[in-house]
Amino acid sequence: MLEINNLHAEVDGKPILNGLSLSVNAGEVHAIMGPNGAGKSTLAYVLGGRPGYDVTGGSVTLDGADLLEMEPHERAAAGLFLGFQYPVEIPGVSNVQFLREAANAQRAARGEPALSGADFLRLAKAQAEGLSMSMDMMKRPVNVGFSGGEKKRAEMVQMGILDPKLAILDETDSGLDIDALRIVGDGIERIMRKPDRAVILITHYQRLLDHVRPDQVHILSAGRIVRSGGPELAHALEREGYAALGLEDARS
Ligand code: ADP
Ligand code: MG
Ligand code: MG
Repeated sequence: MLEINNLHAEVDGKPILNGLSLSVNAGEVHAIMGPNGAGKSTLAYVLGGRPGYDVTGGSVTLDGADLLEMEPHERAAAGLFLGFQYPVEIPGVSNVQFLREAANAQRAARGEPALSGADFLRLAKAQAEGLSMSMDMMKRPVNVGFSGGEKKRAEMVQMGILDPKLAILDETDSGLDIDALRIVGDGIERIMRKPDRAVILITHYQRLLDHVRPDQVHILSAGRIVRSGGPELAHALEREGYAALGLEDARS
């Protein structure tokens, strides 16, 4: 599904990704771990097409199509979803309004008709219920006054409504308590664990991987993947730390 080959990228002329290669097949969950400053968020931004993140070499294809040639909204229409560590607040716009706009923009980009109000509400209710979000919360402004856990749950409701092919989730587990971690982890499994879907989970901690079991775990260091393995690699990392693997925190 996703083929990243020898990807190089820089920010403000500073090389951050230095020959990163990764293959993700449909039906798979991949975890990416790595010390602070390794380039994990940069990888997510580059795949999303964020301005200021300049690709200087390599290729990325999504189901054979050149992802790097697409505008950000075209990437979303092609089935890419990005979840971020710090979801934005949008005062004055309710979650329901925002999600309906997002769902219909995606449908328009795919040449599909807009959802009726009733059809959209049915979909929103079902997805909110799956993330233990009340419809009262869904009617509140996007993320305003939400706890960290509520923001992440709202983001997973959005993911469920958009039903992406590939989700890249950057530290979705940060700031979650035990209960929210389980709700979010189970939500990722329910929405994305399908033969034609795939997930890249960027995380610092093994604990999310108890809820969303990865098929492969990769360690990113200094802008490239330096080790890959199964779930046991995340356990080894938690036990021994990056230093034991000969990897330093780039910001320390
Ligand atoms: P990680 O997510 O693995 O902690 P990042 O991708 O956030 O790492 O950062 C990788 C490196 O790129 C760091 O050295 C960081 O300071 C630098 N970097 C990231 N974004 C920017 C930016 N917008 N401007 C300047 N430097 C940046
Ligand atoms: Mg970081
Ligand atoms: Mg990061």
